[in-house]
Formats: sequence, structure tokens, C-alpha cells
Amino acid sequence: MNSLDSLKQKIEILNQFDDHQKEEKGSILKEIDEFLGTITVPMDIREKRSKDLQLPSSVERLEPKTEEEIQNIIQDAYNDKEPTIVRVIGAAHSLPSAILTAKDIPKNTKVKLISLTKFRGVVINDAEQIAIALAGTNLGQDPENEDSTIENGLLYQLNQRGYSLPNTGGVIHQTVGGFLSTGSSGGTLIHSLFEAVIGIRIIDGTGKIHDLKISDTDNSKFLAAGVSMGLLGIITKVTFKLGKKFFITGTQTISPIKPLSRDINVGSPIDIFGDGDKDQDIPSLFDYLSNSMDYDAEFGRILWWPQDGVDRLTIWKAKKTQKLDGTDLPVNPYELFPEVFNSQVPAQLAVSLILKLLNIVRSPNKVFKKIATFLYGAFNPIGIQSFQDYWWRGLPMDDKLDIKILPVAFSELWFPLDKIKVIMNELQQLFKNNPESIGNLFVEIYTAKKSSFWLNPGYETNSVRIGLNYNLGDPCGTPEAHFNHYWKALKHHTFRLDGYQRRV
Ligand SMILES: Cc1cc2nc3c(=O)[nH]c(=O)nc-3n(C[C@H](O)[C@H](O)[C@H](O)COP(=O)(O)OP(=O)(O)OC[C@H]3O[C@@H](n4cnc5c(N)ncnc54)[C@H](O)[C@@H]3O)c2cc1C
Repeated sequence: MNSLDSLKQKIEILNQFDDHQKEEKGSILKEIDEFLGTITVPMDIREKRSKDLQLPSSVERLEPKTEEEIQNIIQDAYNDKEPTIVRVIGAAHSLPSAILTAKDIPKNTKVKLISLTKFRGVVINDAEQIAIALAGTNLGQDPENEDSTIENGLLYQLNQRGYSLPNTGGVIHQTVGGFLSTGSSGGTLIHSLFEAVIGIRIIDGTGKIHDLKISDTDNSKFLAAGVSMGLLGIITKVTFKLGKKFFITGTQTISPIKPLSRDINVGSPIDIFGDGDKDQDIPSLFDYLSNSMDYDAEFGRILWWPQDGVDRLTIWKAKKTQKLDGTDLPVNPYELFPEVFNSQVPAQLAVSLILKLLNIVRSPNKVFKKIATFLYGAFNPIGIQSFQDYWWRGLPMDDKLDIKILPVAFSELWFPLDKIKVIMNELQQLFKNNPESIGNLFVEIYTAKKSSFWLNPGYETNSVRIGLNYNLGDPCGTPEAHFNHYWKALKHHTFRLDGYQRRV
């Protein structure tokens, strides 16, 4: 019996007792309490990223500090008489098998696992307006790595010197090398961090160093190496063309999905399934995403909560803003969770508990269902939040998410943008036919600008990305089982996959 069934069974037994059976009720309540205690304990802090991979102790774990040391490790492995694998790890936000797992290691093969945590640094060249970052530099701060601070992160240093990159992902814990190698991206069709990459320095499997540039006459190696999951060698340095620093200003609205209305208290300001409503001046989802500047959504993402009785949309959107004289604007940060005693942790702990309890939304019992939909509504209240912030703090809107408390697995499906209407309707149909597939989180909808890097999931195609989330603290099901509903339902569209990420 899984944890959800055992919880449901306990609640059902509890309901069979009469009020005067206090002792019996008390013992069941104690059991429920203990059960909830076991599923709401935050996960342990990771000691070292490489330990997460649970590799055999024979794997040699190395933390080189210089490019020469990295080169020597590769050359030694190449010249070794015994077969030797070299793999590299950044901030380990990817699924372990994207890096290395025990089953990937053939028999009688030595393994050297390189962590770049000690290989970090940024050099900014004002004359050329470029920055060269060592590949182990985190974009922001990785809160679970003591070598990483806000101040030694790439984005903070750029902002301090008056510069910016075009975009960031939803979190900025990742390393420069890992972000690039996986083709990660934030939500916009107008900007792409990949367009700022003008040089890549990589050590190939023989130990030879290549300086690859976008300006090379034949730049095919540059385009192949940009997104290569460590398979063409280890990237040691990335050169970025810099823009001027900017601010973002925006809103997040939470509204019902139906009916369509420009008043978010009444209904949805975007027609996510249809062709829009001309009378009310409401765009279709395709129009909203493809003409994002017209809707102040230069950067954006939408969360669709399709649970029966919940049916809400969370629309986060922002645009660039700058003072003409370049001075700073007032900051009014976006709050992913309400702050209690200057911290978002208590709210995240509450959400973690609620998410587990929300499994009862799937229950046929009407009372349980009512409780669950009430809880959804309570932590997703209809309304609007305005915000304004520095580019590097505002764009990664999920950066305060504590992955020890709310660990998530994530599967992202990339489609050509013009398929969005069909896909939304197919998902609606999937949820109707199989309510089990909805889960207790949301479907994320955002875009990515086309990229020239060969293995980028948005290679030469402006894309819409459907992000599926699974709460790893959930006592029910597995990420694979959850994602499988969507992979199966949408596979005829031949989507491209990105970042199946998980926290272990
Ligand atoms: C909670 C959460 C939220 C996220 N949000 C977003 C988001 O909004 N948008 C988004 O796009 N992604 C998002 N991600 C995914 C994340 O951006 C990617 O997993 C990213 O690649 C992680 O970088 P990393 O430094 O952790 O790399 P790792 O996971 O350590 O490595 C990833 C791959 O890159 C290779 N690699 C790493 N460094 C190098 C190098 N120097 N040279 C060659 N190969 C290398 C590794 O071998 C591996 O194959 C999120 C992940 C999590 C857990």
C-alpha cells in the first residue's frame, strides 16, 4: 500500500468512530500526525555535488583549480593503458544520468569525475564590452555549495560593472559550463543568452585545447560545442558579449481560467484554448506569446493549474526598463512566497505539506476534494502582484525556491510555437480522459528564441516549452510515471526534450 492509500485509510477509519470513542480516535490521530511528520521533514543538505551521483567508491573525484590541471587529468586518462572515462559536473541540477551514473560505467573501466567548483572567476574587458568566465563560475549563488557566493557569481559581477546578459533561467544556481552545455533558457522570444556567447574554450578528449569563436570562418565546431553535454570535451572558458545593465518591471496575476475577461477577478485575460475574443480585446495564447511586446510580456511564463475546482492561471510578465541617465530605479522585489519573519522558508514548508495533502484532490470522497480545492485556492489567491528589480535578481523568479524543502523533478517538452493551440487542447483532453495525469502541481508554458547551436532544443525554431513538474517530496507515484502521461499523449508532435532535472 502506498503512503497516500495508507493516509486515506487512516482518515477513513477515523471517520468511522463516534465522538465518544476518544481513545480510539486519539490513537489514529497520533498515527496521522506521525505520518505527516515523516513526509514533511526537509531533505538533508548535500555535502558535495559529486556525492549525489551515488557512484562506486572506485571513482576518482577531482577538483582542479587551473586549466592546466584539467588538461593533465584528460591527457593522463587518454594515455592510460586501461580504459578511462572522464566526466565533468557543474552545479548538478541535471538528472544524474546527464552527468554519470553507476550503470554508465563499463566493467574494468576507470572513472575520473571532475567538479569545477574550484575553477571559478570572471574577467571583464570594458574596452571590448566582453566578459570571460571560467566554466565553474555559478551564474548566481548555489546555496548548497560553500564555494559559491553572490559576489563570486557571474551575474552580480556584471551588474556591479554596469553590464547585463540578455536573459537568465528561472533559477541561477547553475554553472556557466552546465547552463551552456544543456541548452538551458529563460522565457522569452525576444532575447537569448546564447546570442551573447561569442567564444568557447574547450579541451577535447585527447587533451588538446580549442579556442572556438562565433566569428571563425568555419564556425561549425563552435556551434557543435556550445550545447554538447560534456561529450565533446570540457569547456573551460566562455566569452560573453555584454549589454548595458537594465531593470525589469512587471506583474504577476492569478485569475480563473474561465470565462474570458479583462478583469482578472472574473476570468482569464488570455484565451489559452481558443482564438481569442476580439470584442473584449483578449488575445489567443499564440498571439500573446508571439507578439509578447504588445502585451508587456517581453519576458514571461504562465502556470496552468488544471485541477478540478481550481482551474487557475498564474501569469508572470515583465519588460525592460531603464532611466535615461543610467541611474538605478527603486526596487520592489517579486515574492514567490509570502515572507514570514523576513524569510520565505516558513511559507515553503507550509506549501510542501499542503502539496502532500493535496493528493487527496484525486480522492473520490467529496469532502476530501473540497478540502483540497480550498487549499489550492488559498495558496493561489486571485489577485495581482507588481514588482521591479535589477535584471539579474528579477528574471530568475524561482531563485528563492528552497530545493531542500520543495524538491522538484522537471521535464520540458519543446514544440514549434505555432503548435501551441493544438497542444493545449490535447492536454485538456488528456486531463478529461485521465484526471490522474494532472498531478498536484502546474503545467508551465513559456517560450524560447531560436538558436544556432546544433543540439539546442530550439535549434533554428522559435519554440513554446511545456514544463512538467513533479514534487519529489510527494509520497505518491514517481516522476517517470507522472511525465509518462504527457510524453505518450504528445509524442506524435515529435517534441524535443530539455532538462529532465531532479534533485536526489
Ligand atoms: C529547481 C530547478 C529549476 C530550474 N529552472 C530552469 C529554468 O528556468 N530554465 C532552464 O533552462 N533550466 C532550468 N533548470 C535546469 C538547469 O538550468 C540545468 O539543469 C543546467 O544545466 C544545470 O547546470 P549545472 O551547472 O547544474 O550542470 P550539471 O547538471 O552539473 O551538468 C549538466 C551537463 O553539462 C555537462 N557539463 C557541466 N559543466 C560542463 C563543462 N564545463 N564542460 C562541458 N560539459 C559540462 C555535464 O557533464 C552534464 O552533462 C532548473 C533546474 C532546477 C533543479
